[in-house]
Parts: sequence; C-alpha cells; structure tokens
Amino acid sequence: MTRPALPREFAPRLIDWQRRAGRSGLPWQHTREPYRVWLSEVMLQQTQVSTVLDYYPRFLTRFPDVNALADALPDEVMALWSGLGYYSRARNLHRCAQAVVAEHGGVFPRTAETLQTLPGIGASTAAAIAAFCHGERISILDGNVRRVLSRLLAFEGDLAQAGPQRQLWDLAQALLPDAPTPDDMTAYTQGLMDLGATLCQRSRPTCASCPVQSLCRAHGAGEVQRFPVKTRRLMRKFERWWLLLLRSRDQQGRERFWLQRRPAPGIWAGLYCPPVFASEQTLLEALPAHPPDALLALEPVAHSLTHRELHLHPMLLDVMPDSPGLAPHAGQWVETGALADHGLPTPVRQLLGRLA
Ligand code: SF4
Repeated sequence: MTRPALPREFAPRLIDWQRRAGRSGLPWQHTREPYRVWLSEVMLQQTQVSTVLDYYPRFLTRFPDVNALADALPDEVMALWSGLGYYSRARNLHRCAQAVVAEHGGVFPRTAETLQTLPGIGASTAAAIAAFCHGERISILDGNVRRVLSRLLAFEGDLAQAGPQRQLWDLAQALLPDAPTPDDMTAYTQGLMDLGATLCQRSRPTCASCPVQSLCRAHGAGEVQRFPVKTRRLMRKFERWWLLLLRSRDQQGRERFWLQRRPAPGIWAGLYCPPVFASEQTLLEALPAHPPDALLALEPVAHSLTHRELHLHPMLLDVMPDSPGLAPHAGQWVETGALADHGLPTPVRQLLGRLA
C-alpha cells in the first residue's frame, strides 16, 4: 500500500482545539504522576468515562500510590474493581504494581518502550503514560484513535490484520507535532482521545463541529461510515450457565449466600460467584437431599463478555440456618452485608442485590 500524503495541519489544529474546546475537568487530567495516569488509562479501556468517574477516586482513596496497591491483598483489589468488568485488567494492575515496586524501586519507567514490559501495559497505554507524564513524542492508538485516523486518512487497510495495524501505527507516529513541548504532547494526546470520544464517534460522528473536517478525507469523499475498514467480526460463543443461589441465615439471623471463587484461568477468574453448573440436571444432582420443587427458578439474565454470550439461569434454594453449604464443593458463606467486600461479577452482584 502506498503511503498517503499526511496533512501537516492536523497536529496544530488538534492541539489548538483541545486547548479551546477539549475536555479539561476530568480528575486524571492535570497530573503528571505516572501512577494516577496509568490507573486512569487502565480503567478507561472499554469503559465509559462516567463509570470511571465513580471508581477512580474510590480506588485512589484506598490505594493512594503504587506501594499501597502492591501491598494489597488480591481480594481487596478485585472487590474495589467489582462492576468495572474485564477483570484481567484488575489482576494485571495488581501484578504491575508489584513489578514496579520489585523491579523499578517503586518508580514507573519513563519511556514507552520500557513501560510496555510491565504486566497489562500495552503499546497505546505505554504511549499515553509516556506522553502525558514525560512529554515523549509518541502516539497512542487505541480503538477510538484508530477510527479517527483511519477516517482522516481514508485508510483502506483492513484493521483486522496485523500488517495494516502496523502501517496505521507508523502513520500515527508520522502525524505527531514537530518538536513538541511536554504541554503540546499532553494537549495532542488528549485531543486525539477527545476527538474520538466526543465528535468522531462510531455511528453519526459530529463532522460539522470537527476541527479537522477540511483535512478529513473520508468526510471529503462522503464515506465516513466506510472507515475504519475491518473485515473480521467478533464471533461470540453462546453459553448457558445454571447458578445455584444457596441462601441461609446464621445464628444471629443474618442472611448469607454460598459463594465459590472462580478458578483461573477462565471466565471471572478470581471473583466470587454462586456455584455454576452446565445444566439444570447437573445442578439437581449436586443436591440429592433436596427435591427439585424446593428450588425457585428466577428470571434468566443475559450477559455479554468479549467472546461469549452468557445466559444465566439462577436457581434459588433456601436451606436450614447454619447449613454446611454445598459440601463437598469448596466455598464459603458470605453475609449479605459483606458482599461489597468481595469481588463479584456484575450480573451476580445485581442478582444478589435484588434478593438481599
Ligand atoms: Fe471524524 Fe467527521 Fe472529523 Fe472526519 S470530519 S475526523 S469523520 S468527526
């Protein structure tokens, strides 16, 4: 593929627009502290800003620096992450904090190249940290930025393929401002994020307000919706799970549920969940002492993961106070009031919240 000529006006216009009209009040802006920037970048992956606004300050209050996070128990990290989804991010976050402390004396490396060697830090996240914190002249390229740049350049390469992805990285790097100051790099990087999030959205972009509209080749050709080009569509596997919601009371009359920690690797690894069965039959077989009509079938819940479509069939069973739980399956009783201290997958948290 021949390399398209690059609009040299792109970087100065983007920087100017970001300073005038871009987002400026987010709590992770206006800091050059790598811990805070890294935390916000990881939280923002595949997650809405409005959701992160809720989690970010709580996380920082409990873990104000990388040492506090490195010292935390995995369960505590998962509990604070509970509801943000994509839980491998939380496991990697914890492992990354431990690596920063153990291998870098508690100080994040300065360059994107070294940052990428840490757990859970990919090329775009590394670039964002290096650009925001140290003014490194390097481009981010997350999903939003791929969309913006592929439209700007009318980039025909198939972004489902590794080769075109690399070409777009090269073009992103070539579009960077010439000899930028650290403040320029902050405004440019933030500008790319803001443009993708607020104007150049996937469906119905607001081209009329776009600061680079006159440079945008997809817009000029009236073909905005044709970009980015991506042939491979994600195929989601469909799966049914039967969840056994075993409920009892302790001697003080406090309600509690029987939860097991999900095995790793796998869906919801490390999180707490009611026992999962592949069919209603296997669930009933695990309860030989209870007739099937003792179980109450609750409304099924659909839940989408990146590669899976889960259909959850919750079955509620009230058992005697101080029941031993689901022997011999490993697990524990968790009081309703202590559920917030445990990392729970979102649909499980919602289900138990409705029952409690
Ligand atoms: Fe995106 Fe429209 Fe701006 Fe082009 S003109 S970059 S399609 S918002």
